[in-house]
Amino acid sequence: MNRIVVAAAIIDDTSRMLLLAQRRYPPEVAGLWELPGGKVEDGESRRSALEREIAEELGTAIEAGEQVGAAVVLRPGLELVALRARLAGPPPRALDHTALCWVDAGRLRAMAAAGELVPADTAWVPDLLELLA
Ligand code: C5P
Repeated sequence: MNRIVVAAAIIDDTSRMLLLAQRRYPPEVAGLWELPGGKVEDGESRRSALEREIAEELGTAIEAGEQVGAAVVLRPGLELVALRARLAGPPPRALDHTALCWVDAGRLRAMAAAGELVPADTAWVPDLLELLA
């Protein structure tokens, strides 16, 4: 059966900044930055799964919207999908991550070039840069 991991491209439309979260585990990706998210449970829509994961990991609410870029195959049977989102609650907190940061297009481009993003998420950088332009 195909499982989906959803990740949130949380964008502040006023400042044109994207929220990134620094992974705490596993060791291969610890210290790298990602779009926060997690697995879609049985019977859940992608949007509601993402809203639940963000409540758990960042202690805030989002409104999840359209898909950003293409799905990324993490391994056979497991796909990663990014959804555009906007913050609809208090400032996010790093409950499950080492740190959080808001980045503009220039900073995102520099982090991607420096290999500071988790490998799977780098596929979305062109799409994210377009949304931040
Ligand atoms: O966050 P969690 O451990 O539930 O993620 C499940 C899988 O999806 C992991 O393999 C993780 O590395 C991957 N993932 C990713 N990019 C994200 C979120 C998760 O590659 N933005």
